[in-house]
Amino acid sequence: MSLQPETLKTLVRAAAEQMIASAPELTALDQAIGDGDHGANMKRGFEAVLGKLDTISAQPIDQALKTIGKTLVMTVGGASGPLYGSFFMAAGDALASKRLPDDLADVFCCAVGAVVSRGRSRPGEKTMLDVLFPVLQTLMAEAGQPDLIDKVRTTASEAVARTVPMQATKGRAAFLGARSIGHVDPGARSSCLLVHAVCNTLEARL
Ligand code: ADP
Ligand code: MG
Repeated sequence: MSLQPETLKTLVRAAAEQMIASAPELTALDQAIGDGDHGANMKRGFEAVLGKLDTISAQPIDQALKTIGKTLVMTVGGASGPLYGSFFMAAGDALASKRLPDDLADVFCCAVGAVVSRGRSRPGEKTMLDVLFPVLQTLMAEAGQPDLIDKVRTTASEAVARTVPMQATKGRAAFLGARSIGHVDPGARSSCLLVHAVCNTLEARL
């Protein structure tokens, strides 16, 4: 499958710059119900991705996604590194035999499935899956619709808000028990920001 190298480069740069710019917000969220490193973790990982931008954007998209995944696994400390790393590596694996944009929901499904396996988690546990899974559902339900980008963006924002009343049962926040209630999950927020960066970039280029 193919994606113009310039589009791939713009998408990766937008996602990485969004993570780097959002580090203070993600840190603050993780200070409330975790150990305060989510912002620094994501920043370190996506700075490394930015450092490889020329290599990544010269690769076919399946390889590019695998390079992003491996880079995140190697550079991001904490739970989110292997989880986001698995997401991107599984998306790359899936794309070896699928096409975009037709198979986008399928590819995203494989990527979300990798987070489920790696995290031994499921939606409803106050994690990044509480954004990734609703986004997958919207991609499946709305594939091919003209307002897909808008619907995906709205889904992600609403899904983040729904993590506030949840009690965490996975990740560090689970140690807080009921005290995890009343806060946005940091990984759910970073997933939403990544989804928004991709949506905004695609919208601007279409
Ligand atoms: P750590 O928790 O090791 O400090 P980060 O702070 O970088 O790592 O990432 C925390 C985020 O990772 C959480 O907010 C949550 O969204 C996500 N997370 C943690 N554990 C899991 C899991 N088992 N499954 C899915 N997501 C998880
Ligand atoms: Mg943390």
